Amino acid sequence: MSDQSRAPETPSLHQRHRAVTPAWLATYYSEPIELTHGEGRHVWDSAGNRYLDFFGGILTTMTAHALPEVTKAVAEQAGRIIHSSTLYLSSGMVELAEQIAGLSGIPDAKVFFTTSGTEANDAALLLATAYRHSNQVLAMRNSYHGRSFTTIGITGNGAWSPTSLSPLQTLYVHGGVRTRGPFAHLSDADFIAACTQDLEDLLGQVGGNVAALIAEPIQGVGGFTHGPDGLFAAFKRVLDRHGILWISDEVQTGWGRTGDHFWGWQAHAEAGPPDILTFAKGIGNGLAMGGVVARAEVMDCLDANSISTFGGSPVTTAGALANLRHLLEHDLQGNARRTGALLVKRLLAADLPVVREVRGKGLMIGVELVDAAGEPSPAAAAATLEHARELGLLIGKGGLAGNVLRVAPPLSLTEGEAVEGADLLVEALRRAQAQTFGPEPRP
Ligand code: PMP
Repeated sequence: MSDQSRAPETPSLHQRHRAVTPAWLATYYSEPIELTHGEGRHVWDSAGNRYLDFFGGILTTMTAHALPEVTKAVAEQAGRIIHSSTLYLSSGMVELAEQIAGLSGIPDAKVFFTTSGTEANDAALLLATAYRHSNQVLAMRNSYHGRSFTTIGITGNGAWSPTSLSPLQTLYVHGGVRTRGPFAHLSDADFIAACTQDLEDLLGQVGGNVAALIAEPIQGVGGFTHGPDGLFAAFKRVLDRHGILWISDEVQTGWGRTGDHFWGWQAHAEAGPPDILTFAKGIGNGLAMGGVVARAEVMDCLDANSISTFGGSPVTTAGALANLRHLLEHDLQGNARRTGALLVKRLLAADLPVVREVRGKGLMIGVELVDAAGEPSPAAAAATLEHARELGLLIGKGGLAGNVLRVAPPLSLTEGEAVEGADLLVEALRRAQAQTFGPEPRP
């Protein structure tokens, strides 16, 4: 056969992914995975492999893959009308807003629906800066809040902040990371006191009017790390004195994921609810939905029109309502508390030198990895991901140094699956440890 007559080789999906930005998937697995379907807590790839999904819970799948109630609600609504809820009344949008406002803990709350967490935080910052007539904001070091011009500007984690230009002036506050930084050696009470004093000093230096503090109760992309309970209550007392709003970014911590509480801010509840709360990701169980909850006085401060064509559309609200109903009726918050505790216990019992810390709340568990010298080991995290995949387990990673494994299964995880997943993860960690420490781990 001549060269001309040879059929050109068909490029793989991986090669064709060049056409898409970002190329993020190249950093996750040496051979990227194409997921084709899911059920419960499991997903399948295009090669027919089945995985226990220990990460989808944060990305999209709050309750379970292919939850029949969500599928039915979405299909029924799509069969009736796929439209925008912006110009016309929509019973689904109103019902969901009433439910979320009631659950939020914010008095006299109103909800604005968006299609993502980025757009939700953007809208929250728009509200706060308009309400306070200021473009100065406070954000936490190591934080992540999205990828729009405004949210990149306030994101404290440099790896996710590809431009230093910003429409906002941002000051960064200590407190999101308990085990690193100048206050790491302090007791919880002293840590809170030191971070609060640092905030006071910062505000003293600024002099002017600051609009808001935006913070994740548990930093997600930052590696499932958080300050002591009560930290934001102490912050809020300072903020209140200056009239500064508190925006709680609950994109990862909402809907009972942290087990003990429905929202992350409730671990700091002593000083009352935040002024503004943002949500996204899991509420749509995979459908694009986010939103902002705020006191009516704050929400109503914009006097020009401001709408989102697809925010709160009939199809996404139908799916989100079914998802939320399932979550509440099956007490998935309680389930997160129980199965999360089981998972942590099992991971700790393995007592592996490669693991520096197992932390987190409910089904939001971070596993921080180190090398034989005790230094952060992104290599061990990357190796654990690959071994876990071979064993049939999907997990996430994050943290400033890329050395933290993130475990966040759908909230309907069974006890059997918690034990199975923990054992697979321990085995993957053992293999990664042998690879990165050498065959003889330090005693
Ligand atoms: N806030 C937090 C805490 C997040 O984790 C994320 C997403 N990783 C966002 C905001 C942005 O959400 P989205 O990707 O839906 O824009």
